[in-house]
Amino acid sequence: MSFSTFAQELKTENIIIVALDGYRWQEVFEGADQRIIQNPKFTKNRSGVDRFTHGSTTENRKALMPFLWGEVAVHGQLYGNRRFGNKVNCSNLQLLSYPGYSEMLVGFADLRIRSNEKKINPNATVLEFLNRQKEFQNKVAAFSTWDAFPYILSEERSGIHVNAGTELADGEISRQERWLNGNQDKVVNPSNGARYDEYTYLYAKEFVKRKKPKVLFLSFNETDEHGHAGRYDEYLMAANKADRLLADLWNYIQSSPDYKNKTTLIITTDHGRGSGKNNWTKHRLFARGSGQIWFAVIGPDTPPTGEMKTRNKYYQKQLARTISAFAGQQYHAPRPTGEVMHTMIRREETPAIVSAQNE
Ligand SMILES: [Zn+2]
Repeated sequence: MSFSTFAQELKTENIIIVALDGYRWQEVFEGADQRIIQNPKFTKNRSGVDRFTHGSTTENRKALMPFLWGEVAVHGQLYGNRRFGNKVNCSNLQLLSYPGYSEMLVGFADLRIRSNEKKINPNATVLEFLNRQKEFQNKVAAFSTWDAFPYILSEERSGIHVNAGTELADGEISRQERWLNGNQDKVVNPSNGARYDEYTYLYAKEFVKRKKPKVLFLSFNETDEHGHAGRYDEYLMAANKADRLLADLWNYIQSSPDYKNKTTLIITTDHGRGSGKNNWTKHRLFARGSGQIWFAVIGPDTPPTGEMKTRNKYYQKQLARTISAFAGQQYHAPRPTGEVMHTMIRREETPAIVSAQNE
């Protein structure tokens, strides 16, 4: 089967990728860690997170991430529960944000990307690749709380619309965007001066309504910030909030004729964090567990197999080619990239292109 025949069979016309920075698979699949929640050093406001502690593991994880477990796990797929030997890993060695986002979106780990330093990415991402295809030109946008994305996505070279850090909305903005522009600076996150993830989300949502992008990348950052600060309660609240924003986004998508039943949503993280009850705050090469991540996906081409329980190993670098496959495009990169996650795409037989390496 040729790639074009394969692409024609897909229902996906739009792709949304959402990253929860530094959010561990442990909380995704097992809910709040009861040992960390009981440690007053990490959990200062117990009452706010108490509701994540009363049930079984499956109840607790759903209380923490109701959209992930009530919607994605029912109608889509979740990868990365290592208790079943279902593993998703970073292949970059740094296990930091920039190397992680770059691996995810470029399709390979590049040793030149060693830190979070704000340098322009020498490699084009799949977002840049799609923005160069006729069908997707000027239909690719990215919104992030972290202000490094203009560099990671090489905003100027790629021509992607990027709104990062505390950037305002521009162009013919809506009333809501004017409100956001007027209020963003008044309510910055006291811990680091960044905007809250809600602002990133609301800017993205308004842009979706107004400009109808076909590819949207959205990155939330509060989980990682609170992780570094050692505030487990805040980390859980940030994840719970991100889940709520995802539910709102999916609700909008499934109620909008431009997107309904033709949009694939992929949710993931840039890196894991240390495992265990004390090391969870950090992530780096020698913090064991930092390279352990997860994928979630829901959309019209994805079989509803839910939580994946088969022994298997996947890599962050597989997402670039997978995103491109959902877009019906054959991804080109200068180096071999991770293979398409063919189980995410409804097909009995795997067409040659899906498992093909780079030409
Ligand atoms: Zn971090």
